[in-house]
Amino acid sequence: MRIYIHTDLEGISGVDSIEMMDKTDPSHEYAIKRLMADVNAAIDGAFDGGATHVTVLDSHAGGGNFDLSLLDPRAECDTKENKKWWGKLDSTYNGTFFIGAHAMAGTINGFLDHTQSSRTWFNYWVNGRRMGELAQWAIVAGHFGVPMLMVSGDEAACVEAREFLDSIECAVVKRGVGRNRAELVDLDKSLARIRDAAKKGVALIGKATPFVPILPMEIRLELYRSDFCDKIAKKSGVERLDARTVRKIANTALELFI
Ligand SMILES: [Zn+2]
Repeated sequence: MRIYIHTDLEGISGVDSIEMMDKTDPSHEYAIKRLMADVNAAIDGAFDGGATHVTVLDSHAGGGNFDLSLLDPRAECDTKENKKWWGKLDSTYNGTFFIGAHAMAGTINGFLDHTQSSRTWFNYWVNGRRMGELAQWAIVAGHFGVPMLMVSGDEAACVEAREFLDSIECAVVKRGVGRNRAELVDLDKSLARIRDAAKKGVALIGKATPFVPILPMEIRLELYRSDFCDKIAKKSGVERLDARTVRKIANTALELFI
């Protein structure tokens, strides 16, 4: 059984302030240590649950976050040679996890809530349904017939995952207090939750179904300002709906970005 693990940093255990996202802040190093601890807990749980191969993707801000000296050597690290958001995820995998998730842009008490770009993206919809990175990842995985089995992150991210997916194991590691602060779950307890949810997630293989939107699908993106929209609106196949909103019709799920 092959498991693909996608990672982000905002929803990692022990990360409780916006400052920790900043590479120049002294607290950032600790955030990376926690990232590796959460990833390793998920890897451990996956193998414990019967996985035979685990691939991990360092995905926060395009990658370059992992301290590879701390990564469980049983796991393969995706070097993302194709430069795609989903790396080498393909139909050879039986399931996917999302470690360190955050809620979509516009979620109250969602710690560091955003969708792709916290600077430019305001709202994102697929077939009229507003969604964030969790559902986007589920759609990409669904394209390859791979179900999303497990998520870890703040409470709002886990609630969001359940809104989109019927069968998913969740590990809540904190609760957002406003946008930029979080109350943490005890760190050992967080790792135990991740390990447990990962193990149970593997057991969902064969039961959980891939998340597949109706195709062709309508992608709609609302940006913060009209000037962010100007360039995107010039791309082929993109229609401008108003000053800040663009749409396109995508024939495959992999065309989910505008
Ligand atoms: Zn991130």
